[in-house]
Amino acid sequence: MKDDCLFCKIAKGDIPSATIYEDRYFRVFLDVNPASKGHCLIVPREHFDNIYDLDGETAGRLFALATGVARALRKALSCDGLNLVQNNGKVAGQTVNHFHLHLIPRYEGDQLGLLWKAKHLKEEEMEELRKKIKNAI
Ligand code: 5GP
Ligand code: ZN
Repeated sequence: MKDDCLFCKIAKGDIPSATIYEDRYFRVFLDVNPASKGHCLIVPREHFDNIYDLDGETAGRLFALATGVARALRKALSCDGLNLVQNNGKVAGQTVNHFHLHLIPRYEGDQLGLLWKAKHLKEEEMEELRKKIKNAI
């Protein structure tokens, strides 16, 4: 638990949340400012700032849980689709520095602006990027 971390406090239950699921590793609750009806967050109880800090075991458990929450959202809300969003760093839109995964139900015609406009890179640039990232893995 990190002092003064909002999601540590919510995960622990010190700050109330509209919880839909909890176990020893995670709490899942409704986002207080939802992008759509049913927008929820999966938050590990342990503090990780972002994806760079997250360990593989927690990541595996978290994604397994996400599949179950996704199916529950579809069953409960009859949503037409679902976006998983996970922001890391201010420039990427992270406002709470405790790792969390957004599950955002989508509805036909909802007009949420979550998707990007594709860039067109030259073949050489693509190849340079491919090599650079490949060498870093
Ligand atoms: P981020 O922008 O960091 O990816 O997402 C943070 C999310 O946490 C936002 O969507 C925001 O609405 C939500 N949030 C911030 N404070 C609270 C809170 O006190 N309770 C709940 N339930 N959600 C919160
Ligand atoms: Zn925290």
